[in-house]
Amino acid sequence: MHDDRTLVEARLKRVLEERIRPAVYPESVPLSVGSWTAPGEPVPVAEGLAAPRTPIAVGDRWGAPWSTSWLTVAGTVPAAWAGRCVEALIDLGFDRNMPGFQCEGLVYRPDGTPVKGLNPNNQWVRIAEHATGGEQVLLHVEAAANPVILDYHPFLPTDLGDRATAGSEPQYRLARMDLAVFDRTVWELVLDLEVVGELMAELPVDGARRWELLRAVERALDAVDLQDVNATAAAARTELAGVLAAAAAPSAHRISAVGHAHIDSAWLWPLRETVRKVARTTANMTALLADHPEFVYTMSQAQQYAWLKEHRPEVYAKVKQAVAEGRFVPAGGMWVESDTNMPGSEAMARQFVHGKRFFLAEFGIENQEAWLPDTFGFTGGLPQIIKAAGSRWLLTQKISWSQVNSFPHHTFWWEGIDGTRIYTHFPPVDTYNCSMKGAELAHAVRNFKEKGRATRSLAPTGWGDGGGGTTREMIGRAARLRSLEGSAAVRWETPAAFFTAAQAEYPEPPVWVGELYLELHRATLTSQARTKQGNRQCENLLREAELWAATAAVRTGAPYPYAALDRLWKTVLLHQFHDILPGSSIAWVHREAEATYAAVAAELTAIVEAAQQALAGEGGTELVFNSAPHRRSGVAAGGAAPAAAPAGDCTLRERAGGGFVLANGRLRVELDGRALVVSAYDLAARREAVAPGAAANLLQLHPDFPNMWDAWDVDQFYRNTGTDLTGVDELTVLADKPEAVAVRVARSFGSSTVVQTLTLAAGAGRLDLLTEVDWHETEKFLKLAFPLDLHADRYAAESQFGHQYRPTHTNTSWEAAKFEACNHRFTHVAEPDWGVALVTASTYGHDVTRTVRPGDGGTTTTVRASLLRAPRFPDPHTDQGPHAFRHALVPGATIADAVREGHLVNLPERTVLGAATAVAPLVAVDGEEVVASAVKLADDGSGDLVVRLYQATGTRSRSTLRTGLPVVSVHACDLLERPLPDGHPALHDGAVELALRPFQLVTLRFARG
Ligand SMILES: [Zn+2]
Repeated sequence: MHDDRTLVEARLKRVLEERIRPAVYPESVPLSVGSWTAPGEPVPVAEGLAAPRTPIAVGDRWGAPWSTSWLTVAGTVPAAWAGRCVEALIDLGFDRNMPGFQCEGLVYRPDGTPVKGLNPNNQWVRIAEHATGGEQVLLHVEAAANPVILDYHPFLPTDLGDRATAGSEPQYRLARMDLAVFDRTVWELVLDLEVVGELMAELPVDGARRWELLRAVERALDAVDLQDVNATAAAARTELAGVLAAAAAPSAHRISAVGHAHIDSAWLWPLRETVRKVARTTANMTALLADHPEFVYTMSQAQQYAWLKEHRPEVYAKVKQAVAEGRFVPAGGMWVESDTNMPGSEAMARQFVHGKRFFLAEFGIENQEAWLPDTFGFTGGLPQIIKAAGSRWLLTQKISWSQVNSFPHHTFWWEGIDGTRIYTHFPPVDTYNCSMKGAELAHAVRNFKEKGRATRSLAPTGWGDGGGGTTREMIGRAARLRSLEGSAAVRWETPAAFFTAAQAEYPEPPVWVGELYLELHRATLTSQARTKQGNRQCENLLREAELWAATAAVRTGAPYPYAALDRLWKTVLLHQFHDILPGSSIAWVHREAEATYAAVAAELTAIVEAAQQALAGEGGTELVFNSAPHRRSGVAAGGAAPAAAPAGDCTLRERAGGGFVLANGRLRVELDGRALVVSAYDLAARREAVAPGAAANLLQLHPDFPNMWDAWDVDQFYRNTGTDLTGVDELTVLADKPEAVAVRVARSFGSSTVVQTLTLAAGAGRLDLLTEVDWHETEKFLKLAFPLDLHADRYAAESQFGHQYRPTHTNTSWEAAKFEACNHRFTHVAEPDWGVALVTASTYGHDVTRTVRPGDGGTTTTVRASLLRAPRFPDPHTDQGPHAFRHALVPGATIADAVREGHLVNLPERTVLGAATAVAPLVAVDGEEVVASAVKLADDGSGDLVVRLYQATGTRSRSTLRTGLPVVSVHACDLLERPLPDGHPALHDGAVELALRPFQLVTLRFARG
């Protein structure tokens, strides 16, 4: 037989595109269109519906960037169409290749009821299944002219990312506004040919099934009359029916399709647009659920449900109904799909608390799966948090984006730093935007690394990132793929059904221990520094607000600000979304985020101050409040005491050869004439922290122009070149008192300036560094380096409820790929008996490297904090302007010291004038290894006291928690403050004995007497 395969395949391609697909709508008549453009930001629906319209025609331009036009389309169904299926076709000027990244619309009936969303893959609105002819059609479209930010040439700087800079040039041209006859038979033929053709392309050329499909395609094309596709489509379908009826092999891979739209809560659009994106997508998805009984749809992010409830209650009512039917499935149980690298311990916990609580309150359901398809890496602290929230599964596909190493498993136990294991699945389809294409399914089958042991994987199916969701075409394809020879078998299922079945067939998968590091997007730990500092500051203030409001409520009966704290937490949680906190959004998002953080911080500060004033009373005594979980300056953790008289033994003298020597009873620090730290000497241990011949507190500037994803990525070659910023404009003594000595240095480089203040306080084991930068560079990376005289294979970086270790060397590709990583309050490098910590209240990104010195053969371990970048996409002016960063060097630090100093620099003392002599803490924990991460009143308003503690040093700890108030009972709880079945610790005289595993977290709930 002659081989005509390529001929038939090419024929299929052309006939499908040029003849069959256009015949889906064989007849059409134009609609008349009127338009009104809202003058500024989006208006309420009633206002948009009522506004006067001016005529606009197909071909006309519309849509200044970020503007909203209200279109009214009107027409009459021709009498000749009686009995036929009629749809309105509305093409706002779509580019089919970028759904969710351009203009979109939401269609309303004249009474304001939302009908469905419009996007490139959803241009139709059903008018009548069987028209009578003569129907009057009147629809309104809220059309959003969201500009294209990520274009065909990606990552080019653009001013379109902020309404303030985007200009007024219309972005789109109305392309089609018609009433049309929908020929379902031709539409089904298109799907038949797509499914058969795409499967055929994935099958081996030497296998019989491929040729069986090819011959069926050929017969179907022969059956089509190209002059009258509509009349012959049924005959063509008959030719394909046989190959489409052949069942899947018993060994076929099983795919649980989950209808989905990944909707970034902000990214290349502002938060306000996401509110509308959610409405458009969910309006489509509830309509699709009504039309297709087998379909199951899932949506994550409680925040998006809350937006819908507030802004589009009609759509929300339909969602609620579909949720009750079990077909619209809330997923993930988090407030948003957050970043997991940077959120602090409590914030990571509260993502689950507020997400789960919302789903429980609104729908009476509790998720068992964490759903984070697109988050940029997962900390070793997360498994324990997921479990403590009452969940047991995790889904993500993002690790497939790793640049270097291919992750060895798709289904596995993921073990965190404390030993908690979570059953985890990475969909082998390698996308959260599956569209049921043959190539995607075949990739999932080939890629699945558990073959032979497991048969199941999950495929989130639907257009995502900017929303859109599943289409009727995807559902049509899935129906054909339910059992089809040569293909994976596809079934619509909920995430829970998938995980239950997957775990039943594969109960003991392989184990992966420690963080799931994404070998990409490492610069998200640094980009948009003000957004990151807003998060850090607000997390710290939330801790303070809860602590002091609870203390004031218990001690003075002051009202506890439940509603305000609930609202403020949710605002901070929203901004931990995986494109906001990571700094990868447009300028508009970060401009708003900075303003929002400032407002949140002001409100939280007011709560803290009111509570402290209630505790202090009226008077003139200076009281020092200590919100850190560690005693300091003679003030108990979580308590207040009168300020001690200033005293100390600090000295400052000029150094031979230039510079200064700062000393107290614990440290002696030498700055050379460049204000670089050439010595940091631990007097008790008689050890030098700074490597011989090196200088710490060294600012280093690198070029930073990654190959792609400017705000997200830093590529390893950035290190090949760099400049040490050692020039000094001014070096002055700022303070020279027994209680503190300080030096100030000013430098300039490029178009930027930096002022650093180095302070050594009496009794302090740390050198405090304040770095204020006026940053006007582009595509540069600024690091603050500390070359340390330490020999260590690994270092510790604080994460949620503990720390994780990373290598200082690059033996393997896995280790080499971790060239930029995340810390919370500290990094710590140590030899067995002595170490150094770098603590911070400001930065997350860092790197640690090691070299061997040629002179003495010793090892220099260099810790560098990442201060600033200046990428130009998606925000062309990222990080320009003033910044301030707080760090401290702690020579001689143990892990416990690092934990403590980390808290102290993040939670400075507050001094309040009052009458009281002291405020006793509500709880006291002996020893430093067990740390309270939250002290608060229970969210249910019962007045119970909730204390969350964790073992912070990675050792076993026995300690005693004493309450400073009358309590009648104590329960160990989950993160949602619900008592655990076996959580009955003994209470003796208001005290609880705690025996904790390394990094174990425990939530205790005390009923007050
Ligand atoms: Zn995303």
